[in-house]
Amino acid sequence: MEKQSRYGEVTEALMAGLTGVVGESNILTGDERENYSRDEAPGSDRAIPDLVVKPGNSQEVAGVLRLANEARIPVIVRGAGTGLAGGAVAFYGGIVLSMERMNRILEIDRLNFVATVEPAVTLEELYQAVEECGLYYPLYPGEKSAAVGGNVATNAGGMRAVKYGVTRHFVLGLEVVLPTGEIIETGGKFVKCSTGYDLTQLLIGSEGTLAVITRVMLRLTTRPGQTEILFVPFHSLHEAIESVPDILARGIIPVGIEFMQKDAIRLVEEFTGKEIPLHDHEAFLLIIVEGTDSDEIHRISNDISEVCLSHGAVDVYIPGSERARRNLMEAREKFYPAAVHFGILDITDVVVPRSRIADFMAGARKAGEEFGIPLVACGHAGDGNVHLCLMDDGSGTPPEKAKELLTRIIEVGVSMGGTVSGEHGLGSIKKEYLALAYDESGIDLMRRIKRAFDPNNIMNPGKVFDME
Ligand SMILES: Cc1cc2nc3c(=O)[nH]c(=O)nc-3n(C[C@H](O)[C@H](O)[C@H](O)COP(=O)(O)OP(=O)(O)OC[C@H]3O[C@@H](n4cnc5c(N)ncnc54)[C@H](O)[C@@H]3O)c2cc1C
Repeated sequence: MEKQSRYGEVTEALMAGLTGVVGESNILTGDERENYSRDEAPGSDRAIPDLVVKPGNSQEVAGVLRLANEARIPVIVRGAGTGLAGGAVAFYGGIVLSMERMNRILEIDRLNFVATVEPAVTLEELYQAVEECGLYYPLYPGEKSAAVGGNVATNAGGMRAVKYGVTRHFVLGLEVVLPTGEIIETGGKFVKCSTGYDLTQLLIGSEGTLAVITRVMLRLTTRPGQTEILFVPFHSLHEAIESVPDILARGIIPVGIEFMQKDAIRLVEEFTGKEIPLHDHEAFLLIIVEGTDSDEIHRISNDISEVCLSHGAVDVYIPGSERARRNLMEAREKFYPAAVHFGILDITDVVVPRSRIADFMAGARKAGEEFGIPLVACGHAGDGNVHLCLMDDGSGTPPEKAKELLTRIIEVGVSMGGTVSGEHGLGSIKKEYLALAYDESGIDLMRRIKRAFDPNNIMNPGKVFDME
């Protein structure tokens, strides 16, 4: 992508100003910038930023933004760089604002069940700190090395959304810095709020295009008594998916209901070298349940087994030991790294009403066959969010052909009442599909909101949508 002429150049005066704000050692200008040139999106183009700047606190973020705004320099905020939408990539040059130094857990408030953290705290660090206080942060958006700020900026979802929802359901308040350098606080340690526009919710999922998130207040809960996993093989994906509404209709709310197809299981087995139980069947549900004690777990597991068996499940495997549970979770978690290892052209993040997953899958498969591109499926059956990997079979599929198939699959999802992205965001890779989900007046309103926050369009330009 060309650098837009409307943006300024990094001058000696700007460098001097930035050095005054963060110190010379927190500005990278050499080869190390390569480490900040891409995220984890498949086939994402790289772009080396002019500078990587690492602020240590909100005042420093404000100082950097003020200078960048005056000089019209793009600012691309970066958490852990695990995003899957090409969101933290500096396609217009400018400053990658790496939040890595802002990694402190500021408070775990046991009375109010609130964790207040800086944005670069990783999920792994958050889980540990919260657990040490006897509390629980129940969301698990797939990658523990992701940063909390990145989770908020993408409204990350993951495998526990059926019971707990997504990141936006756990954010109580934020501190953000606007491009002008103003520091704004939103929300607070309260659960109810009818006080003016809800800026917290507007900023969640804004993918670094409106402001820099510098502090996050997260709602916590109590630890569940026990967790169990049910691994259920079926003769077909259709049977597997058809079980899901019935499980929920019984009033059982599992933490998550994931599905994997045989191809996905094979891929993971080859990648990890570990055999997955009952692996010869066509489709699988992996159902995570929580209960206060083993009696409750037993009752829930029985109810779920009954529903699945009535839908043609071949068997219900309940691991019983922590190690076996861990192995099953690993099988699901390793899907994306395994797919990347064997070569993928792209990945979908379409979400459809969960009653339409089987129809969506059939439509997507048909399109895949038409294009001659193998698809491997895995996803969140309990919330309708389907990740289909467009596999690179080594036959030299041109990228345009893969793109055409991706477009077709997204159109199939949208036509079934779904939308483009359930959890990864649009970033640079999926922004062109926003028009499938919103009409022009909706997108125009988004542009007006963007201008109100960021009139010079310095915040992550070219992401989510283009300004003209
Ligand atoms: C193996 C694997 C599995 C994954 N599984 C899931 C999953 O199950 N569910 C899911 O939702 N995601 C999943 N992801 C995607 C990824 O982990 C999430 O998108 C995560 O939220 C990104 O966090 P990050 O810190 O790495 O963000 P980055 O990649 O650094 O940035 C992502 C976006 O957020 C913006 N941003 C980051 N920090 C800030 C900030 N402080 N202020 C403002 N904007 C900011 C960036 O500009 C960019 O647009 C997975 C990724 C991988 C590699």
